[in-house]
Amino acid sequence: MHSDQTSQNRSLSPSENKLTTIRDLTHEQIADLMAEFKQPAFRVKQIEDWIWNKHVENFDQMTNLPASLREKLASHFSIALSSEIARQVSSDGCRKYLLQFSDGNSVECVGIPSKNRLSVCVSTQAGCGMKCAFCATGKSGLSRSLKAEEIYDQVIHAQNDFVTRVSSVVFMGQGEPFANYDETLKALRMLNKSETLGIGARHLTVSTCGVVPMIHKFAKEPEQFTLAISLHSAVQKTRDALMPGVKKWSLLRLWDAMQAYVDLTGRRPTYEYALIAGVNDTEEELAALRDFTSGTLAHVNLIMLNHVSGSPFEPSSEARAQHFIQTLNAAGVDATLRDSRGSDIDAACGQLKQKYSSN
Ligand code: SAH
Repeated sequence: MHSDQTSQNRSLSPSENKLTTIRDLTHEQIADLMAEFKQPAFRVKQIEDWIWNKHVENFDQMTNLPASLREKLASHFSIALSSEIARQVSSDGCRKYLLQFSDGNSVECVGIPSKNRLSVCVSTQAGCGMKCAFCATGKSGLSRSLKAEEIYDQVIHAQNDFVTRVSSVVFMGQGEPFANYDETLKALRMLNKSETLGIGARHLTVSTCGVVPMIHKFAKEPEQFTLAISLHSAVQKTRDALMPGVKKWSLLRLWDAMQAYVDLTGRRPTYEYALIAGVNDTEEELAALRDFTSGTLAHVNLIMLNHVSGSPFEPSSEARAQHFIQTLNAAGVDATLRDSRGSDIDAACGQLKQKYSSN
């Protein structure tokens, strides 16, 4: 039994927000604007607090600003927040939201509660261009990349809805973060530096299907963000078939990039591996995975393949998963089987789509 609620809220028409969004202004631009409006300097901080921390939807809610300033701002700018157009609640407490942006594009994000902690899974693109064979997101292609504030909003949305401080964020929703590198990094920094959120870099995890040049770049960022790689096979032929979008970066180049990452950062990356019966759970596949991950810093996160409608793939057996864990552990590789949360509402890994549908 699960309490599956789907609610349809108001939908934004793409033409609703013609004004520049105030959220596109930098700190300096807001400061210049306040000077132009002959306002004291502390207004800048007040406005930023309303926009980024309190997450107000309109200028009238900025109650510590004089009415005349609120009116002036409203005539020049919009706030352009995303709006929740649907939600589903899982029996395990996860909540999946469908958020729509002012241009009509929408993405899903998931709030994942455990005890008194809240983790949020965010999307970095509307849709995805990577075309992984086992994933629902890639089925309808890429609509567009998200801006940093649109990624950030997803976290605030879940935090406000759960009324719980977010303790970690995983960039594992729709889209390929490293195909939207600059905005992803900006969002990571906003989450890390925000006065209300201030989430530690180690609790911010980015998952990539293996965009090698960006792994090299990410390794050089000063913050200690966590990196996860969607590996799914360490056999070139199998990986090419499962993940055609990263075919041009061979496993050898991925391995080299990861050694460089480990050498430079000293941090341990995670390798995601969704077990698919008869495809990547054979002895040959296991041996290749062991060779790829042993003798280096690595954590293998095995996942039972989640159901995706119309997909020919089936998850492996529990026994197969245990055999993988034992073999990897025996080779000194840290490996765990991750339980998939939210699968009853299609909120688990690889199940996020752009629109809700009944199948
Ligand atoms: N594009 C990035 C971010 C998405 S993260 C990436 O590929 O890493 C989503 C994770 O769920 C990825 O590891 C993805 O490979 C995995 N996934 C996709 N479909 C899945 C499925 N049906 N079952 C289990 N995991 C799946």
